[in-house]
Amino acid sequence: MFRDVRFLGNDRLAPCTRLLKQIPCREWMDAHADPADTLVYVGIENTRRDRARIPAIARNWKPWVTRFPLCGKREPARAKEDLLTEARALGVAPPRMYEPGFGHNNCGGACVRASASGSA
Ligand code: SF4
Repeated sequence: MFRDVRFLGNDRLAPCTRLLKQIPCREWMDAHADPADTLVYVGIENTRRDRARIPAIARNWKPWVTRFPLCGKREPARAKEDLLTEARALGVAPPRMYEPGFGHNNCGGACVRASASGSA
């Protein structure tokens, strides 16, 4: 994809996330999800860096209303392993890249944007 757009994605500017995720998701939402009865859940982590992204993400998703369930103001940051354990207990298998020890599952563990916390 970077070759197609002639730009090497990095942790500051990642055209991949716009072209591979945001645009297709937005097109699907436009076609299938009425903003009047649909919430957009965004799974960013409860880190200072990710919390700083919330206003822009919420603004970009308008007219849909957004929720950030991992970033509650009164909730302490939860360790990823705790979240994965909770998912397993609910019968949800974590994405495969966690098993060999990757900090995230984004793009096969090779996300250009992932921080040490592994969020993208
Ligand atoms: S997960 Fe990372 S590499 Fe993959 S599309 Fe998103 S920003 Fe790009």
